[in-house]
Amino acid sequence: MDMNALDQYVKVVLVETSHPGNIGAAARAMKNMGLSRLVLVSPEDFPNEKAVFRAASAADLLASVEVYETLDDAIADCSLVVGTSARERRIPWPVVDPRQAAQEIGKVVNQKQGVAILFGRESKGLKNEELHQCHLHLNIPTSEVYSSLNLAMAVQVVAYELRLLNHDAIEPTEVWDQPLATSEELNHLFDHLETTLTEVKFHDPDNPRQLMTRLRRLFLRARPDQMEVNILRGFLKAVNQLSR
Ligand code: SAH
Repeated sequence: MDMNALDQYVKVVLVETSHPGNIGAAARAMKNMGLSRLVLVSPEDFPNEKAVFRAASAADLLASVEVYETLDDAIADCSLVVGTSARERRIPWPVVDPRQAAQEIGKVVNQKQGVAILFGRESKGLKNEELHQCHLHLNIPTSEVYSSLNLAMAVQVVAYELRLLNHDAIEPTEVWDQPLATSEELNHLFDHLETTLTEVKFHDPDNPRQLMTRLRRLFLRARPDQMEVNILRGFLKAVNQLSR
């Protein structure tokens, strides 16, 4: 696969990183593998010279880093969101290993659409609500006795698999006729769905259970395109008009 295309469409998103050294080491891991788009969501301590020190000859990535306050803003334009996680979660989600993730990422890059790979906090990883923004969860296989890698090392493993991605090895998929919906478009759909389900009294926000999580999982698994999202929103609007 053309590494330039991967670099153009893939961003690495570090969520609320506490140690600036890890940010620098992640930048180095990325540059070694030909990636350059580093995005930070509310870093605890950045900029910091420790980051520059650990980045070595990848300090240019730190200079061009994008910093956002919220994860939503960081991934708004992405059509595939992959969340890395060392742990099993209460509600299972589609899980891939780094090699499978690289394949899925390659397919979306082939369609010239944006991809975000999320990495969590050193202390407690990604929150459930953040993992529920993801189409796929990426788990790096490890020993059962110690499954949590250092943040930058996890970035290294994932970036390496992208490096190995061979264009010809991507399973041929027919070219889709519509662009995939972005994270922002999907979030608007989920908000609209939630208000409508509340309006028709199917959903009780005071007793939400896992309804919205399960619906998110359903739609994210289907990877709806923009036209499909528009159809669903048109349908919801028609329901709104009847119930108001
Ligand atoms: N203590 C945290 C782990 C944080 S490690 C927890 O229990 O979730 C910091 C980050 O590195 C994680 O959020 C994840 O993005 C990445 N990471 C570490 N080990 C990983 C693994 N085995 N598979 C996938 N990502 C991993």
